[in-house]
Amino acid sequence: MPSITINGTALVAPEGATVLEAARKAGIRIPTLCYLKDVSAAGACRVCVVDVEGVDHPVPSCSTVVWDGMAVTTDSPRLATYRRIALELLMADHGRGMGAPCLVCDKNGACELASLCREYGVEGPERPEPRPVRPVLDANPFLSFDPNLCIRCQRCVGACNAAARNHTLRTGKRGVRIAIEAPFGEDWRATDCESCGTCAQACPTGALTEKRRGAYRSWETERVRTTCPHCGVGCQLDLVVKDGRIVDAEGASGPSNKGLLCVKGRSSSFDFVDAPDRLRTPLVRNAATGQLEPASWDEALDLVARRFTELRDEHGGESLAAFACSRSTNEDIYLFQKMARIAFQTNNVDCCARV
Ligand code: SF4
Ligand code: SF4
Ligand code: SF4
Repeated sequence: MPSITINGTALVAPEGATVLEAARKAGIRIPTLCYLKDVSAAGACRVCVVDVEGVDHPVPSCSTVVWDGMAVTTDSPRLATYRRIALELLMADHGRGMGAPCLVCDKNGACELASLCREYGVEGPERPEPRPVRPVLDANPFLSFDPNLCIRCQRCVGACNAAARNHTLRTGKRGVRIAIEAPFGEDWRATDCESCGTCAQACPTGALTEKRRGAYRSWETERVRTTCPHCGVGCQLDLVVKDGRIVDAEGASGPSNKGLLCVKGRSSSFDFVDAPDRLRTPLVRNAATGQLEPASWDEALDLVARRFTELRDEHGGESLAAFACSRSTNEDIYLFQKMARIAFQTNNVDCCARV
């Protein structure tokens, strides 16, 4: 394994590691923008440049593989100047018309580009050129893409291809004219996009966002780690909570999902919590009026237990079946089949996950 130094500290890097990977492993920060671990390493933003002894120009740390004896410097006035220029070039092409609309951007407070610009003292392009405003793609019910805010880092492309493995979101054109082709226009139904939002979670700016992102600012929220309630995969997610209400869901790194969510986990995990028509108490049908009326849990459970017992005693256990919800936990389902076999005296047990 190659022995290298980073900022004078000697360390042994994994064989084939990039400078960025070796630095992160050693706890040394190098700023990045287009890089996303295991998802995208396009080497497009040039923010992660470092100096290497014997090389006369800074090199991108995300795409430079370490070699034995390599001496790396990650911070210097020269590197700060390079990074500032890289950020100024990105800012020159970021925004609608003149300048960046950071204050009204949905990503305000969570934009990685803005954060790095603050760190390197970049306030915007020195001579912003007026340029045509490109149309926003927002026909998709969950997602929208504003090409005017896109810095063409291609993290969304890596997210759709390498993480979601959907291959719907692509780059069009090449070189300086490279453009993102997001499938959120009027023809979104005809595309293979599954609206999983993996691309939006990967986007470092306000270019590609979940529509509900506009309902909150990051500094107003807290995150609560939980398990997606929708299927047995058990993806981990963070519920984003503002003023005691859930306003969003983000994929968290769990053993079965590694930060990913499907459209159900990302966009259907919480709306029902505060839905005005949500059932909050059991309902029992009034035999006289035929209307469903609120009842206590004891009343409802006593009624159900009595009726099931009557059916079993009158017609035998084979007259009953237990059909479980696939959103239940393993432990609940185990208890459920026990109840069917012992209390109902039937082996008629099934679950909607099977279909
Ligand atoms: S929502 Fe999912 S499938 Fe659609 S473009 Fe984004 S990552 Fe690809
Ligand atoms: S939409 Fe976002 S992630 Fe995709 S290239 Fe543009 S800035 Fe990067
Ligand atoms: S996010 Fe999708 S795949 Fe993951 S547990 Fe929820 S429904 Fe299942």
